[in-house]
This record gives sequence, C-alpha cells and structure tokens, in this order.
Amino acid sequence: MSATESQEQHRFEADVRQILHLVTHSLYSDREIFIRELVSNASDALDRARFLSLSNDDLLAADGDPSVRIFVDEEAKTITISDDGIGLTREQAAEHLGTIAKSGTKAFAQMLKEKGTDTEGLIGQFGVGFYSAFMVADKVTVQSLSGLSGSEAIVWESDGGEAYTLLPGERTTRGTDVTLHLRDDSHDFCSIDKVKEIVQKHSDFVSWPVLVDGERANQEQALWTRNPAELEDDDYIQFYKHVSGDWQDPLTWLHVKIEGNIQFSAVLFVPRKRPWELDRLDFKVGLKLYQKRVKILDHADALVPRFLRFVTGVVDSPDVDLNVSREILQQTGAVKAIRKQLTKRVLKKLRSLSREDAEAFNGFWGEMGHILKEGLHEDSENVKDLLTELLRYPTTKSDGELRSLADVKKDFVEKQDAIWYFTSVDKERIGEAPVLEGFKKRDFEVLLMSDPVDEWVVMSVKDFDGTELKSAISGDLDDEAEEEEDPIAKAAKEQALPLVTWMKGLLESDVAEVRLSNRLTSSPSVLVDQEGAMGSNLERILKAANQDVFASKRVLEVNPEHPMVKTLARLNNEGAPGLEPFARLLLDHAAIAEGRLDDPKGFATRLQALMSRAAEGMGGGGAVTDAPASEAAPEVDVEILGEDS
Ligand code: ADP
Repeated sequence: MSATESQEQHRFEADVRQILHLVTHSLYSDREIFIRELVSNASDALDRARFLSLSNDDLLAADGDPSVRIFVDEEAKTITISDDGIGLTREQAAEHLGTIAKSGTKAFAQMLKEKGTDTEGLIGQFGVGFYSAFMVADKVTVQSLSGLSGSEAIVWESDGGEAYTLLPGERTTRGTDVTLHLRDDSHDFCSIDKVKEIVQKHSDFVSWPVLVDGERANQEQALWTRNPAELEDDDYIQFYKHVSGDWQDPLTWLHVKIEGNIQFSAVLFVPRKRPWELDRLDFKVGLKLYQKRVKILDHADALVPRFLRFVTGVVDSPDVDLNVSREILQQTGAVKAIRKQLTKRVLKKLRSLSREDAEAFNGFWGEMGHILKEGLHEDSENVKDLLTELLRYPTTKSDGELRSLADVKKDFVEKQDAIWYFTSVDKERIGEAPVLEGFKKRDFEVLLMSDPVDEWVVMSVKDFDGTELKSAISGDLDDEAEEEEDPIAKAAKEQALPLVTWMKGLLESDVAEVRLSNRLTSSPSVLVDQEGAMGSNLERILKAANQDVFASKRVLEVNPEHPMVKTLARLNNEGAPGLEPFARLLLDHAAIAEGRLDDPKGFATRLQALMSRAAEGMGGGGAVTDAPASEAAPEVDVEILGEDS
C-alpha cells in the first residue's frame, strides 16, 4: 500500500454523518454516557476475544490479565479507554467506525429517521455507541491491534466531521485504545474522581475489571451468582438498567438458582414499558446467555418463547455448550429444559403480581398483553391455563376497567351459563354494537375484545374453569329461558314471521339467512355471523393483512318489537306493494351500524328516495322530487312507517 493511499481520508457514511452532526451540535444532557458506551464496547471486545480463543489457537494472547483501563490526563485534557479485547483490523475499523455497524447505533439511526432529531431524552436509553465520544471530544484517536493472526496495527482518527483517517498504528499487543481529546466545554470530565463516579453509576456490572487510574471501579462479583438474600431491590434495579439500557425501573424481576439435572441461575426482568421495537419481526430478545460467567450470546432468543420476548436479563448455565451456534441452541436439551422452567416461572410471577398489585399488572397488560396472547395460539410450552388466567379485558359492565375471566364468571347472573365475548377491531365503538343490546337487557356481562390477536385467543380458549366461551355475534342466545313470555312480544313475533320469510327470498343473494332476533332492544336489525363460519371480524383482519379470504355470508336478524319492523310486518301481512326498499334498508341499517356498508351507492339511492317522499309528506314541495333517483322511490306512504300499530 502506498503512503498516499494509506493516508487517504475516508468519508463517513451518510447515516453516520447525520448521527455525528446531532451528537456534536445538539446533545447537551446525558453526555457522561460516552463512558458507558466506550466501556461497553471494550467489554464486548474482551468477551469476543475470550470466546474466539476457545476455538482459535492462533489468536494473539492478551498482555497480562484482561481488563478495561481508563487513563485520565488532566494536563493534556485527554481520556483514554484501553482494552485487551479482540481489536480491529484495518477493514473492521473502516467498516465499524465509518458506517453504522449494528445494534444500538443502528436502532438510534433508525429512530432519527422516524422521529427527527428530537431525541434528547432518548440518548441515555439507546446510547449512540462509539460515536457518542464526539459529544465531549473534538478529536478521537483509536489505536488498535487485532488478535487475529497476521493483523497489523492501525490508527484511526477523526474530528467528528465529514471524514476520518486510517493509518498504520503503533499498538504491539492485542486490543484497542480510544483516546478522547476533550472539547473546551467538556474539561470537567477530565478528573479521576468524576470518571470513577460515572463508571460506578453506569458500568458497575461490567463483567471485566474496569480500572480507573489503576484501581478497580466496578463490582467484582456477577450479580446472578450472589445470594438473593443479600441483595437489595436497588441492586436489581441498577443491574436491570445496565443489562437493558432502559432508564426506568423494571416492573418486576425474579432471581432463580436451579440445581437439578440441568443447573442454571437466572435474573429476569419484566420492563414497565414495551420496548419500542417489540412488535417488529426482527426484534431480538434482550436475554444474555453465559456459561460459567463467560458470555456466549447477547440475544439468546432460544431461552424464552416468542410471547415472552419482552423479558430481559441474564441466564448462566454450566450445561450449555460454549461453542453452540444460535441455530443449534434451540434444539439442545439443556436449553429446552431451561426455557420450560423460565416460562413457567415468569408466568407465575406475573400471576402473583396480578393478585398482589392489580394496578401494576393492568399497566403491564396494556403494554404487553397482546404479546402474551400470542402464546395461547401456539401453546408451544403447555402453559395455556396459566396464560388464560392472565387474560384481561374491558367488558360491557366494567366501564373501561380490565376484568379477568374469573371475575366475569364470579359475577354471573341467574340463567347465565356461558362467558360471552364480542370481538371487533373497532375499539372506540365496540361497546355500542347493536348485537350487545340483548345481553345488556339480560344483564349478562360480555368481554370486549378489540385486539386482532383476540380472534386467535378465542380459537384456542374454548372454555374456562368448566364454562364455555361463546361469541355474542354468532352464539345462540337462548330465549327459552324467558319462561312466561310477554304476550305482546309473542304477538309481535308471530306477526313478523311472514315478513322474515319474504325477506329471506328477497335478500337471498346478500345474506345466508333472515331471522327474528332476541339480541336487540332498540335497533331494528343487526348482522350476525353464522355459527361455525369464519367470523366477520377475523375476515376483516385477514383482508387488512392482504390475505385472500373466502367471505361467508352473514345472517340478518330483525327485531320484531321495533316500531319500524312492526309497521313493515303489518303492511306485508296486508299485502301492501313497494316494501322492497324498506326491507333492503333494514339490511343497510345493520351494515352501517357496524361501520361496514358494502353497497353505499344502492344505499344512497334508497335513502334519497325515502327523503324525497318524506319531504313531500311534510309539504316541502318539489325541491327534491326531480332528483334522478326519485324514479326508484318506493310506492308506499312513508308517513306511516315508524308509527306503532
Ligand atoms: P454497537 O452498538 O455495535 O456497539 P458502536 O458504534 O458502539 O456500535 O461500535 C461499532 C463497532 O465498532 C462495534 O460493534 C465493534 O465491532 C467495533 N468496536 C467499537 N469499539 C471497539 C473496541 N474497543 N474493540 C473492538 N471493536 C470495537
């Protein structure tokens, strides 16, 4: 390589320039986290070196006991973070320190794109990796020698602007020194005491010794190896912040030590708020896997089922193989056994939380409930019963409060023998749906399910504690229960039967059936699902996800006691002509009430005809009579409709 070529300036990738610009110009709070970020990079590099040395005999050995060392030069106004980690080759330096490498920094760049630069409060949460050095430094120099055999030392340097230089370096032992030339406004970081304090605050749980000016500043013993009886809540809270990067306290945690066939210890946390990327398909679980305190994986997805992917923490087991790959890990017996244990324990922990602190649990449910529900569908871990106990929903009686299936069952009224539910993704209006009228009249409580995933929940949870779950929109609502039926209601039913039979023929191509309803009180009509067919809500969800669905026909139910239906029934029995538009309007009405009108144009025509007639009836004259749709106007005197006969 020629001298000029090696001295060539390299431009940062566009995303990096954006981050650097933000970091150097607009971040003034949380600046001390640069130490956490650089110490954590050093610690990762040490982990990787230890891991590689197990299988790679050629790896350059560390010079002495591996550690992270921080030197503060108060005269020169520099801070150097030095490690005996895996180091960087020239290519790696160009890639990792010139582009967006991965993990934290990538997530941050993504967020900048989505949310703009209003990220001040989030910096502590994400960190910005290596580039955070430029919050306090106007020049950063990296000396590194990779442990991979045949590597040459490099020196990387930049002022955090558009470019960096990459030259042959001077380091002779494996590892990396990152030197920060502090900006004038950051000289206060240039103090041994201050740096020590920051290390204790943010990097106390790093598993390698962190020496500041030669003295160990972080804890010596890994938290999960310690006796739970000797640990304070605050120890766990600080540890959580360290492993998760979350700035809030965790909601709850558990510390387990198992000494059975498979040995392991684990400290697991449930966060308060859902991590922002939890719903993304590529979300990686924040569970770290160690083997006797050697870190094997940062994101050990295999340790918990997907529906517990919000759990973070550490698992350490002597029974997992150090060289195991991510893919194989899933299949190994030890991991399966650990996953089974952890799943049960986390769910039981959540159950106790729900009993001891309903408010906290409900808060959790609002954030993470929809993720837990996924578990009912797969039930890969045999925890259906536990998960069913955790289900919470608002109901027709709860005024927005969350209720469990047990709560609903406990408060059954006489003659209620099923746990009724209603699914609709129309969250705002779910409680007002006409199908619920009859349940309210009977005083039956109905679970209101508005998460798309609830459709899968009810597919797998068919009963609870010996009581059947039934859908309010398709299940048969028994009215034999109302023993002595009111004679007026009975007469209304008899009178409406011929109407229903006639409508069935008329609407044959639109609906599967027309029948009298016992689900309604104030609405004239409602659309329900055929029992056993795919529900209309599920159909709607699948369509929204661009899936081909075979839509099943619905059932139109009419309310024989509604004044309009009564009048129609009477006119039909008298053989009055021109009732067809009104019969169709009953179908339109039902479709509109659930916010789904399939034939808006036909509806508009029918409505317009009706309005013209009504206006004429009011003596308003011909203002609307010359509307083109008036030709389709029904032949019936509208005034009498709605009159109770
Ligand atoms: P990340 O979120 O991946 O830590 P950073 O910006 O902090 O992103 O670092 C980018 C990459 O640079 C790291 O993933 C690592 O590959 C490399 N790197 C940073 N610091 C060191 C170090 N001290 N030793 C070896 N490699 C390092």
